[in-house]
Amino acid sequence: MSKTIAILGATGSVGSQALDVAAARGYKVDFLSANKDLRTLEEAARKFRPRAVAMADGKAASELRTLLADTNIKVLSGEGGIAEGIALSEAETVINATLGKAGLVPSLAVIDAGKTLALANKESLVIAGDIVMSRAKERGVEILPVDSEHSAIFQSLKSGKHSEIKRIILTASGGPFFGKSVEELRSVTLADTLAHPTWKMGRKITVDSATLMNKGFEIIEAAHLFGVGADRVKVVVHRESILHSAVEYIDNCIVGELSVPDMRMCIQYAVDYPERCVATSAELDLFAVGALTFQAPDPVAFPLLELARRAGEDGGASGAVLNAADEIAVEAFLNERISFSDISRVVIGAYESLSDAKNEHSLEAILEYDAVARVKAEELIKK
Ligand code: MG
Repeated sequence: MSKTIAILGATGSVGSQALDVAAARGYKVDFLSANKDLRTLEEAARKFRPRAVAMADGKAASELRTLLADTNIKVLSGEGGIAEGIALSEAETVINATLGKAGLVPSLAVIDAGKTLALANKESLVIAGDIVMSRAKERGVEILPVDSEHSAIFQSLKSGKHSEIKRIILTASGGPFFGKSVEELRSVTLADTLAHPTWKMGRKITVDSATLMNKGFEIIEAAHLFGVGADRVKVVVHRESILHSAVEYIDNCIVGELSVPDMRMCIQYAVDYPERCVATSAELDLFAVGALTFQAPDPVAFPLLELARRAGEDGGASGAVLNAADEIAVEAFLNERISFSDISRVVIGAYESLSDAKNEHSLEAILEYDAVARVKAEELIKK
C-alpha cells in the first residue's frame, strides 16, 4: 500500500531528494513546507498536489497563495501555519529536512501530532535533544534518522542489544581540507570550502563538513538518538564515504552499513521502515570501490569536533549555544566577512563565554541562550 508523507523544508537539498524518492516510490505527499523559496514550492505543489503547503515567511506565503489560486491547495503561513499543516496532514511519516534552528519547533509539532518523525534536521537534537527525545517517548512517537550516518547506525543496531554496545563508530569524509595543518587552513578560500569531495549538499552543511562541525553535531545527534554518551561516539575519517557508520559491540564485532553515498537511500529506508523495498538508487560495486581507508581526525586543525563532544557531555543549553554561534559564524564566512580559521575562533569564543548554558534545561532558557550566543558570535566576528 502506498505511504502518505509530508516534507518540511521541501525546497532544500534533502527536501528535493525526498520529493524524488516520493515520485519514484509512489508515496502520496499531502503537506509541504519551505522557508521562502516560493517558486520551487509552487512547482512541487503542482506536481504532488498536497492538501496544504506552508511558507515560514509570511510575505512568501501570501504570494504563493496568489500563485496557487487556481488550485484547491491550502496555503498556510508562518511557524503556526507549519504546525497547523502537520496537524491537518494524514501523513504517517513527516520528513523534517528544514535547515538549521528553524527545524526544532516543527519537529516538536510532528511529535505532538503523533506522527513518525523522519529526521534530517540534526539541529533539533543538537539544540534540544533531551526535550525532543523525552517528548517522543512520552507520546510514543518513533524518530527515524535520515542523516546517512545515523541511518547506518540505526540499521547496525538491529544486530545486538543496547547493553551490548561498546561504542558507535561515526564515519566522516574528512571534508575538502583533511590532512591540512592549522597553518595551511589560514589561507583556504570560500571556493575551496564549497568543493566537497563526495556528498552533494547545501552551502551551510558543506562549510560545516569542512570544519568538521557537522561531524561534531552528528556526535550529539547520535548520543541523543541512540542513548549513548558522547564519549562513546568515535569519529573515524573514511574518505570514500562507503561505510556510512557502524556499531562496535562488547564482543569486538563491528557491524556497519555500506552503500553508495546517496541520501535518497536513507530517505527511502526511513519512510518504508520496517520494510526494505526495491532500491531507487544505484547498487554498490565493491570491485569499483577497491579499497576502503580509515584514519584518525586531527583535533588540533579541526577543534570544533572536540568542542561538540564537550557540548554533548555538558548538556543543557550547550548545544544551542554551539549551533547558534556556528550558524552566525558560517553565515559571516559565506558572506566573506571572516576567514575559514575565524569560524572556529568565533564558535569557541562564544561557547567559552557562555559556559553556564549547561545548567539550563527548559525550552525557554535554551531559546534564550540561542539568541544570546548569536549576539556574542556577532561581537566576536567584528573583533
Ligand atoms: Mg551526515
